[in-house]
Amino acid sequence: MKRVKFYVCPDCGNILTATGGGELHCCGRKLEPLEARPADEDHAMTVQEIEEDWYITFPHPMRKEHFIRFAAYAATDRVLLVRLYPEQGSELRIPQLRGGGKLYLCCSRDGLFEIKL
Ligand SMILES: [Zn+2]
Ligand SMILES: [Zn+2]
Repeated sequence: MKRVKFYVCPDCGNILTATGGGELHCCGRKLEPLEARPADEDHAMTVQEIEEDWYITFPHPMRKEHFIRFAAYAATDRVLLVRLYPEQGSELRIPQLRGGGKLYLCCSRDGLFEIKL
């Protein structure tokens, strides 16, 4: 699979993903893909295997002004995206897919972070 790209519309908060080229638009503007950086200390994740799932926890705040907007899991042929909201717990479960892959956390303030599984 080509590298997945994530887009967040600054107007409506819509989250989009794409693996090909081409342009994405939302609310009448062209969206720029988010640059993923290796997870830093504030955006680290702890990943555990529970049954058939990845159980992911992160120490990041979930306040309205600074929260994790979404978490995503990109495996060989699929991307699973879980949208998160302020005041929600800082944990989630994602079903494991074949072929390892990457986990992403998107911070509402600091951008996109990735770790390899
Ligand atoms: Zn929009
Ligand atoms: Zn942050």
